[in-house]
Amino acid sequence: MKVYKFGGASVKEAAGVRNLAEIARSTEGQLFIVVSAMGKTTNALEKVMEHFWEGRTGLAVVAMQGVVDYHARILADLWGEAYLPERVRGFYEELEEIITLSNPKSRSYEEWYDRVVSFGELISTAIVSDYLSYAGVGSEWLDMRRIFLTSNRFRDANIDIEASTPRLLRAMECATQRVVVGQGFIGATEQGATTTIGREGSDYSAAVVGYILGAESVSIWKDVEGILNGDPKQFEDVSYIPELTYLDAIELAYSGAQIIHPKTIKPLQNKSIPLYVRCFVNPELPGSVIKAEISKPIDTPILILKKNQILLSIKPEDYSFILEERMAEIFAILEHHRAKVHLVQNSAISMALCIDSTRYLDEIVDEFHAAGFTVKYNTDMELLTIRGYRHEHLVEFAEAEGVYMTQRSRKVLRIIRKSATE
Ligand code: ASP
Ligand code: MG
Repeated sequence: MKVYKFGGASVKEAAGVRNLAEIARSTEGQLFIVVSAMGKTTNALEKVMEHFWEGRTGLAVVAMQGVVDYHARILADLWGEAYLPERVRGFYEELEEIITLSNPKSRSYEEWYDRVVSFGELISTAIVSDYLSYAGVGSEWLDMRRIFLTSNRFRDANIDIEASTPRLLRAMECATQRVVVGQGFIGATEQGATTTIGREGSDYSAAVVGYILGAESVSIWKDVEGILNGDPKQFEDVSYIPELTYLDAIELAYSGAQIIHPKTIKPLQNKSIPLYVRCFVNPELPGSVIKAEISKPIDTPILILKKNQILLSIKPEDYSFILEERMAEIFAILEHHRAKVHLVQNSAISMALCIDSTRYLDEIVDEFHAAGFTVKYNTDMELLTIRGYRHEHLVEFAEAEGVYMTQRSRKVLRIIRKSATE
């Protein structure tokens, strides 16, 4: 039994879906396919959500129509004529009902967000599963909201693996087809409310499926050759890394490498399931493998750029020292607003933190003021992490213009700098 995950980029057009079907056809044995929303659908649904939340019903409907049209083009290309799978039609009706008939203020922003944005995966999997059957690869569509039981921390829900295990095992027992298709990224609470597990979370969904089913491997199909030592869109001369340990991968993902979601590794490591990152456009290539032991350690520096960061500088108003108690207070405020902290640097009376950009910045600043801190912040920052840095990186990056802060250990160099305007 194998688990394959196809990200949004790999199914962004009809050719990708056909390619997926060929890969599924040529794989022997039972296969569980986890699929993300097609292309940039999640971003498009975030816009739908924004309009809905602000009460701009007309604009929400227009934005939703964009999503419908995009999928219609893919469907027409796949079937050679206009075609709308029954299941997809049902999802459109549900989404339209939400954005035109619901009162946004009846639930939290986060709860609505999950309901609206999850349609991306529901639609993509319905199309993929339908197309697989059409292409002669019999498949079954699984609603992962019935499988993954999660906490009710909307937009960042935790999958309860233990409670989800019997549900998935039962669903697999009942499956009559060799190939099963399920959504990444989504689940539901005990009360049945739809949840999402965090942006780019489909990798983690695939890892949990692999873990529960004791898969022989999990493969993430991407539009790159395998894992590279830097994003080719950001850096020149990147090279390919054939093998990584679980620990390497965790460090990379934690630093913001877009290659895999940070939570993906743990379940796989627990059962020693190898994780392959394979090239969707050229399935013949070996790709990269992440596993417990590798034949030789990585010897190339790895560059990871995390964009959309905010640099916060916090000082107690009375110039008192920042000791443990005050640190705890600072982190409690950040936790309260679910800020994701990526770097901390402190001195006697100040603390600088790099956090992901957040819609709650004003609330965070207000809360710091109320607790007796002064706060300054810079938005549009980025965090560059270089693992295994060399002297030339210090010259090229740390001493460059626009650098606000650096932090360095023997192996890792981290730089917070202003994002270059594109
Ligand atoms: N579709 C979701 C996103 O774009 C989840 C994923 O792609 O993994 O964040
Ligand atoms: Mg995606």
